[in-house]
Amino acid sequence: MSSESSIALTTLDVLQRPLQDLRISVTDRCNFRCPYCMPSEVFGERYAFLPKPEILRFEEIERLTRIFAQLGVRKLRITGGEPLLRAELPCLIERLAGIPGVEDLALTTNGVLLAQHAEALRAAGLVRVTVSLDALDEATFQRLSGRRAEVARVLDGIEAARSAGLAPIKINAVVIKGVNEHAVLELVDQFRGTGHILRLIEFMDVGTRNAWDRERVVSADEMLARIDAVYPLEPVAPARAGDVARRYRYRDGAGEIGIIASVSEPFCGGCTRARLSADGQLFTCLFGTQGYDLKALLRGTASDDVVRQRLREIWRRRSDRYSEERGELTMAQPSASGPAHSRVEMNRIGG
Ligand code: SAM
Ligand code: SF4
Ligand code: SF4
Repeated sequence: MSSESSIALTTLDVLQRPLQDLRISVTDRCNFRCPYCMPSEVFGERYAFLPKPEILRFEEIERLTRIFAQLGVRKLRITGGEPLLRAELPCLIERLAGIPGVEDLALTTNGVLLAQHAEALRAAGLVRVTVSLDALDEATFQRLSGRRAEVARVLDGIEAARSAGLAPIKINAVVIKGVNEHAVLELVDQFRGTGHILRLIEFMDVGTRNAWDRERVVSADEMLARIDAVYPLEPVAPARAGDVARRYRYRDGAGEIGIIASVSEPFCGGCTRARLSADGQLFTCLFGTQGYDLKALLRGTASDDVVRQRLREIWRRRSDRYSEERGELTMAQPSASGPAHSRVEMNRIGG
């Protein structure tokens, strides 16, 4: 990966947050139907996913990413939907890995297709993977994936990623009250001492269709207390500004875990992420209601300078702090979600 980062300017938003990370969704489709993201009642047979011509081509994604890197983006994450459903994904990885300024290139996946793609992704220049896995017992996993695969396939994917050198691997688990709280300690037992980093995520009110309710959130503090009672933990300093996970290490030396407390302890103040949907809309917040149409710009006659100017303008006007606002609202009204009612769905912008 190139280290020519000197060309970049720092681009700051209204709240003085630099543009540093870009999440790129490469498809809105998924082979799972996790009820907290794409409930099967909504994303059924007849759901209208994006038609192919609407989806950004690899050369369009590469061009935009180059421009983002010139504005300060250093970290890229490929996501979806399920990114491994996108044909020829290693070709995109190769294009992105060669962009001057890009220092980190990661992928988030549900892991089911990872065993067959891990080697090719690594060879193309992928640095790391995050695999989502919400439970180890089959019944709970089935419930949380929409009955689309078996736990063993995800574990095989994790193992294939490890042997391909895509490490350290992060394992993401969304924890929902009454559904998979029991899975927390089982996941801890499975991944302690392996070098993989388990990250427990508070259930968020992303999108509009996952029946979010504050009562269903297991707070970071509750999760930590449960783990600490069995395996004592101590905090670790953040690796870099803009990191979303609170980090802890097991006192017995068995490695690290992370907690993403986006509901109970929002981190908007350090949020340096832009998100690109598969159809080329730019969102400056996970809870955005409206994207900025970059595809029209790319497919028109705009030069790179014009695109760069547009991106800079969008970022400079950014003032999003949805989770903090939700926090302020829920102090007054405990069951409230945040302010907007037409938030973008998670499968469009990838978490
Ligand atoms: N399909 C891939 C996967 O599941 O890893 C990538 C896309 S998925 C939208 C990215 C991450 O968002 C996953 O780790 C998933 O668990 C998380 N996620 C989705 N809906 C969520 C919700 N309502 N609250 C918290 N995390 C959520
Ligand atoms: Fe698919 Fe990932 Fe959403 Fe689950 S969380 S439905 S695997 S996009
Ligand atoms: Fe960033 Fe929006 Fe999440 Fe706040 S709510 S951390 S601004 S994505």
